[in-house]
Amino acid sequence: MIISSRAQKLTPYTPGEQPQQAGLYVKLNTNENPYPPSPAVEDVVRRYNWEELRLYPDPRSRALRNALAERYQLEESEVFVGNGSDEVLSFCWYAFFDPHRGTLLFPEHTYSFYPVYSDYYDQPFKRIPLKADFGIDIPAFLEEMQENCTGVVFPNPNAPTGMALEVQEIRTVLEKSEGRFAVIVDEAYVDYGCESVVPLIRDFPNLLVVHTCSKSRALAGLRVGYALGNQDLIRVLTSVKDSFNSYPLDRFSQTVAETAIRDSLYYDGINQRIIETRSWFSRSLQEMGWRVLPSKANFIFASHPHLGGEAVYLALKSRGFLVRYFNHPGIEQFVRITMGTEKDMEKLLQNIGDLEACL
Ligand SMILES: *Cc1c(COP(=O)(O)O)cnc(C)c1O
Repeated sequence: MIISSRAQKLTPYTPGEQPQQAGLYVKLNTNENPYPPSPAVEDVVRRYNWEELRLYPDPRSRALRNALAERYQLEESEVFVGNGSDEVLSFCWYAFFDPHRGTLLFPEHTYSFYPVYSDYYDQPFKRIPLKADFGIDIPAFLEEMQENCTGVVFPNPNAPTGMALEVQEIRTVLEKSEGRFAVIVDEAYVDYGCESVVPLIRDFPNLLVVHTCSKSRALAGLRVGYALGNQDLIRVLTSVKDSFNSYPLDRFSQTVAETAIRDSLYYDGINQRIIETRSWFSRSLQEMGWRVLPSKANFIFASHPHLGGEAVYLALKSRGFLVRYFNHPGIEQFVRITMGTEKDMEKLLQNIGDLEACL
């Protein structure tokens, strides 16, 4: 047998559909930003000195980490960067969670990469059910954080529900943890109106906050993510990275990401537009009888009064809109709809109206 037993038992993550033909669908299925990267990014890409690609990149990504340290008022030693936050998260599983020390805790309905990494690293885990209102159940987490807990990880706001926790609730998790294990808060969608826990990093040396340039920086195609936390955590992540690949971020990505991070003004503008779109779009769906969970992300999680998630997904696909549904018991009635431009969402609403008329 030429396939390792490890590889034989992998269950990989299923990414959202990426149609090969551009323009066939309005893509509202993978939470990309509908607006382009900033004009400063356009400029740096156009002027990029291609001859530099002859040379290896800076393995420590110092310029990019510097920009991030400035942006978050941290030291460079408190910043780690990787090839998308998916890679950063994978390194976290290796660096902080220990199969021999116990169980990892995460919410029942959450980013579906978490169980995938857990299987990859043979890490036992427990899914903590959501509350009846689909929020993350903090008291249930506190209850489970016993002797044999090796870590806690959750997104805030959570995916795919879009629902956010208060900083105070996350603080209770950190206090109860007493520094015994790492608490990882995946803030992929934090720039859409949710309060960040980055200011707690200096109080809790076991807190690691993971961010991405894929959503709020409109750079999903560039693959840049980062982690912010105590320098001891960052040092371990760096040693995991250097045992795997010294250069996960190429020269081009480092330069482009640095430019985007330094251009907050533009990004605050487009992200504010998405927040406004989310607000009127949610209200309009509710007026049509849908249930819409309160979202702090660049997507909403919503259910039709009669149709299940798959039926809505298929009906919208036939009308040229890609959304995402999850065949998981408890959330199969919902679809996740990424916020597009104002125009996209008006068109979608019209199509949903026509759909209702056919029922
Ligand atoms: C999109 C997403 C990521 C991954 O982002 P990349 O940086 O593109 O790898 C991580 N966590 C959550 C919750 C996400 O939704």
